[in-house]
Amino acid sequence: MYNHEPPGYDCPLCQTIRGEDQAEPWTKLSDVFYRDDAVIAWVNQKWWGAIEGNVVVIPTTHYENIFDLPDDVAAKLHGVAKQIATAMMEMYGCKGISTRQHNGPDGNQEVWHYHMHVFPRWARDDLYGQPVRMASVEERTPYADRLRSWFS
Ligand SMILES: [Zn+2]
Repeated sequence: MYNHEPPGYDCPLCQTIRGEDQAEPWTKLSDVFYRDDAVIAWVNQKWWGAIEGNVVVIPTTHYENIFDLPDDVAAKLHGVAKQIATAMMEMYGCKGISTRQHNGPDGNQEVWHYHMHVFPRWARDDLYGQPVRMASVEERTPYADRLRSWFS
């Protein structure tokens, strides 16, 4: 009822967690700016309209969704999301933050490994009405570098 991952699923997030670059235009190791024993974060390759440099925060162990995610990992992950939100306010100059997290096909989950999106927000940016596009590695790298420098 709560799980929809197909048998033999080749998880793209685990590929990055193993330290492998994905094929263009997907995640490169240069997008990763944070990692500890339980949590990893990188600049997402999907950008919504003019809202640049959104991030995904991910458990380093493969859990499909919020129902599978252990409470202690959820707490660590949310702590990292809070740090990223603070870093975005400081380094992007945004005026707000939104997080989004999807579970199940009817919840718009597309990748079967828990991940939380963190978005920088500005007044009237219409996040939820914006078209999605694939940002290039060249566009993503400056954001990953800025966030990495904030954590170092
Ligand atoms: Zn995975």
